[in-house]
Amino acid sequence: MSTPDLEERRESRAIAGGLDPELVRNPYVLLTPGPLSTTAGVRTAMLRDWCTWDDEYARIVQDIRVRLVQLASARSAREYTAVLMQGSGTFCVEAALGTVVPSFGKLLVLANGAYGERMGLIARRLGVSHEVLRFPETEPVDPARLAEALLADGKVTHVALVHCETTTGMLNPLAEIATVVKTAGKRLIVDAMSSFGGIPLDAGELGVDVLISSANKCIQGVPGFGFVIARTHVLSACEGNARSLSLDLFDQWKTMERENGKWRFTSPTHVVRAFATALDELDAEGGVTARHQRYRANHRELVDGMTALGFRCLLEEGVQSPIITSFLEPSEPWYTFDGFYTALKKRSFVIYPGKVSKAATFRIGTIGDVHPSTIRALIETVQGSMRDLGAAVPVPSASPARS
Ligand SMILES: *Cc1c(COP(=O)(O)O)cnc(C)c1O
Repeated sequence: MSTPDLEERRESRAIAGGLDPELVRNPYVLLTPGPLSTTAGVRTAMLRDWCTWDDEYARIVQDIRVRLVQLASARSAREYTAVLMQGSGTFCVEAALGTVVPSFGKLLVLANGAYGERMGLIARRLGVSHEVLRFPETEPVDPARLAEALLADGKVTHVALVHCETTTGMLNPLAEIATVVKTAGKRLIVDAMSSFGGIPLDAGELGVDVLISSANKCIQGVPGFGFVIARTHVLSACEGNARSLSLDLFDQWKTMERENGKWRFTSPTHVVRAFATALDELDAEGGVTARHQRYRANHRELVDGMTALGFRCLLEEGVQSPIITSFLEPSEPWYTFDGFYTALKKRSFVIYPGKVSKAATFRIGTIGDVHPSTIRALIETVQGSMRDLGAAVPVPSASPARS
């Protein structure tokens, strides 16, 4: 594959430098799990139109594929390949499950939140033979129970896990789960949608066979496509498995390989371009390790600040990811999610509703072009909004003293 066209990227940034800042200024900060606040550099990379079939564009695609494999496993890069797929992250999960599990296979889905449940739904809809092993939303997936389940059901061929369960912000114990799956000789599929690029991992060392993520999460691109990083020998054996034409991951991969970065159907050219810039910016920041540190610093500021205001986290700190944090909703009369959300949005911060089924929560994301200073400004804004809403600070009902 050819070298990246860095000159071209610098030029698009130079154009960005000359733009009216009002054109690229965001009206508010997105503290959500994606799409998230991106840099002006990423957004201005989308200002030009690109032909999909010439070499220039194909080079960008091929370069992205190489860089994704490097990010997934620097040490075992030669064992892996990357496929890009149109659509949101879910399209990629559906493409992966529908292509990787053969008709004679059986999938065991580990679920402790909405995204694990969604993998079960996808399997059901596609007619993939499967079982869902459930855990409480506030507890991590338990490797010992997985080991038992694998012993009890010899028909299972593939295991699927959500690394960071964005429903709550839970970080599941990927290394322990991977050990169990590998010891049992099964294939491991990981939805690393909200963790890839933001939490260091090495797919080769862990023994992950298939890893799924998308453009608009921790790589900090804009929405429009996702990607699957798979062991080449695993994906090579998947011809004819897919239950869908457009979501046939094998065909998509073969076309990209054979035709040097060509997508089968119309590709999101502008989004791909922005993603290449996002990868440059990830490198410039110091890679995944540096980004992880920033996200952790964001999370620390957030939890310290919110706790000081009397809010309480849903999860124990030990299982909490630095990606997104669930807070229990106060039960004071001043609080409604809509009222709180609107007050914050007026002051340029957008938070996220809760998704947990058994507790009333709201969520605040700490990924994207978000820095500890952003979070400090958020905390001041939360305090100001609470004052305007007539709230007592600290919140009595959500304070740790209650439990
Ligand atoms: C964001 C996300 C997805 C994909 O969601 P889309 O809305 O389809 O992009 C899947 N799994 C997890 C864990 C996620 O955070």
